Amino acid sequence: MKPANNESNDSQELYAKHEKVYPRIIFGFFSRLKALSGAALLGIYYIFPWFQWGDRQAVLFDIPARQFHIFGITFWPQDFIYLAFILILAAITLFFFTTLAGRLWCGFACPQTIWTDAFLWMERLIEGDRQKQIKLAKAPMSMRKFRLIVTKQTLWLVFALFTGFTFVGYFTPIHELTQGVLTFNLGDWETFWILFYGFATYGNAGFLREQVCMYMCPYARFQSAMFDQDTMVIAYDEKRGESRGSRKRNIDYKQKGLGDCINCTMCVQVCPVGIDIRDGLQYQCISCSACIDACDEIMDKMSYPRGLISYTTENNLNGTPTHVWRPRIFVYGGILLAIFIGVGLSISNRSMAEMDVIRDRNSLFKEPKIGLVENVYQLRIMNLDSQPHNYDLTVTGIEGLKLIKDQDIQIDKGSIITVPIRLMAEAKNLPKRSTTITFHLTVTDDMESVITEEARFLGPIIR
Ligand code: SF4
Ligand code: SF4
Repeated sequence: MKPANNESNDSQELYAKHEKVYPRIIFGFFSRLKALSGAALLGIYYIFPWFQWGDRQAVLFDIPARQFHIFGITFWPQDFIYLAFILILAAITLFFFTTLAGRLWCGFACPQTIWTDAFLWMERLIEGDRQKQIKLAKAPMSMRKFRLIVTKQTLWLVFALFTGFTFVGYFTPIHELTQGVLTFNLGDWETFWILFYGFATYGNAGFLREQVCMYMCPYARFQSAMFDQDTMVIAYDEKRGESRGSRKRNIDYKQKGLGDCINCTMCVQVCPVGIDIRDGLQYQCISCSACIDACDEIMDKMSYPRGLISYTTENNLNGTPTHVWRPRIFVYGGILLAIFIGVGLSISNRSMAEMDVIRDRNSLFKEPKIGLVENVYQLRIMNLDSQPHNYDLTVTGIEGLKLIKDQDIQIDKGSIITVPIRLMAEAKNLPKRSTTITFHLTVTDDMESVITEEARFLGPIIR
């Protein structure tokens, strides 16, 4: 709020009314790259739940069964540690690329940016580009305006609900979910999450847009801690651009003291967060590169060299050399590589079975014949693989130890069975009252040793 001329200037309005940003469409190298990355990522999101892998959905987070299926690999609750490592990996990848290339994630891969772009595309499809949208917003309500608003909102809502439906399709088999939707027979939780995620998309990408990046995203606030003078940023070359001002083509503007910026404001008009890059580096800038394309187009028209706004570094702008390979790049890169190799090796070598040995609580041991000692156990065996398997069980630790089981061990994929086991040993072979024995479980399909588990074999007191 501007103070009256005769009023003091030391009070300032703390609340600023939000003004809608109408970014102008731009076609250029970076805009095409961004459209390509957005289409690829949206494609992955919407198509993945429809892929089958064997007899089940390729990517399915089956929470009731506590199994996450990702392209033939099944993760169980005991694999939760991998989730922690994958999150750490994602965070360090973000740090690494932010230090190297600035807010690459924000501009080209963040879901908020990508869905906002999709909503902007639909808005332009219905209402036209920036000028038409501004004109429509200012125009009084009419049949045409009403029809355009209803069409746009309906398109947004359908797209947002389909996004919510796809999201739930990662947790409930998507073919079952489709049947549920078509027959109006959805579960309460599925209905809730489709609506919740759908309206979150509608609100964030349709209405809040740049406000999510500016006021809600914590990354926008702390990413500057990862920046240094050698980090790639999108910047306006002030030395070259100033003094800005309009001019006729083919005049000697340098003689008039003008820089290369013709003050056309195209860089501001295309900006999805509504800032002026010429005011310097700002935390609101999501590095979408739209202003680079816009300014390059103007430079071409004026026959000036491109790059008045460009991907550059602060060092470069100050005329000092840029160092790409610097200590923090090596540190982040080294940690990233180590975790990546560690997680990859660990996942590829993880055991495909689990076994718990539970001793019979009713008796410590039995002596079915003089000189013979029997111990009874329950073995809980879990097949963590996505294939059924036959297993072989052996036990070591006492000479002549005999294993008696009443059933072959066959376990379906992702199932658990309990196998009662009796072990028989000659008393003379028991060196002490309690002896450590080892169960070995092997997959008979490939005779690869899967798992071993220790237990105690109890016998009478030796005198
Ligand atoms: S687009 Fe380029 S020339 Fe036009 S105002 Fe922005 S910086 Fe100046
Ligand atoms: S200033 Fe340029 S790069 Fe930054 S958000 Fe605006 S258009 Fe995108």
